[in-house]
Amino acid sequence: MRQPLVAGNWKMNGSRASVKELLEAVKNGMGSVAKAEVAVCAPYIYIPDTQSQLAGTEIAWGGQNLSTEASGAFTGEIAASMLLDFGCKYVIVGHSERRTLYGEDDALVAKKFGVALAAGLVPIFCVGESLEEREQGITEEVVARQLDAVTQAEGVAALADAVIAYEPVWAIGTGKTATPEQAQDVHAFIRTRVAQQDSRVAEGLRILYGGSMKPGNAAELLAKPDIDGGLIGGASLKAGDFLGICTAAN
Ligand code: PEP
Repeated sequence: MRQPLVAGNWKMNGSRASVKELLEAVKNGMGSVAKAEVAVCAPYIYIPDTQSQLAGTEIAWGGQNLSTEASGAFTGEIAASMLLDFGCKYVIVGHSERRTLYGEDDALVAKKFGVALAAGLVPIFCVGESLEEREQGITEEVVARQLDAVTQAEGVAALADAVIAYEPVWAIGTGKTATPEQAQDVHAFIRTRVAQQDSRVAEGLRILYGGSMKPGNAAELLAKPDIDGGLIGGASLKAGDFLGICTAAN
């Protein structure tokens, strides 16, 4: 049985005050018998405050990116060890915004995945096609290429200690959600592709859906057999919405 994971991706949003308020509300609203695991991925600068507020709770936290390097002259970068220093469990790698806005290609994403894993962080590894790619009918080809970049570099066993997030780029922040069937098809495709190399890893692998997930559509998506949780952008900034999704996952 795979434990569902609901992970918030705050992106570059919030202030010290709003983070405090949001986390207080999420903490207070979280039921005591949660089946789903819950995490938030905060902007780097708010990770220390997030740690202070969440330490001792069931809620985990993480970063949204990391450097491929361990330390040194890399101005503006943050190393895996620094995330660990502040108690991070998770780190997002290969988010489509990093791929499209910051030119992160499959090789770089695979490297970041490997660095995160080697350091002891759990990568939330994002894959997904653009609208153009979906319309061209090459969704599976694109997702397979992104997935294979990691399994070829790190070995399929590396996925045993990671989480995959399927995030169709056309559904991120757009209000357009993949239908549960569209999402399930790609999730099943991912699991089958992993199973071709290692069926046990595939069986245990948590594959999250991301792309305009909200309390109103979460239950239907999460009811699908290969959807094991969500990576939540916009809705993770509102405690009520985030908690609504957590409840659906429970
Ligand atoms: C995301 O950026 O990971 C995401 C899923 O965003 P949203 O929920 O806002 O579509």
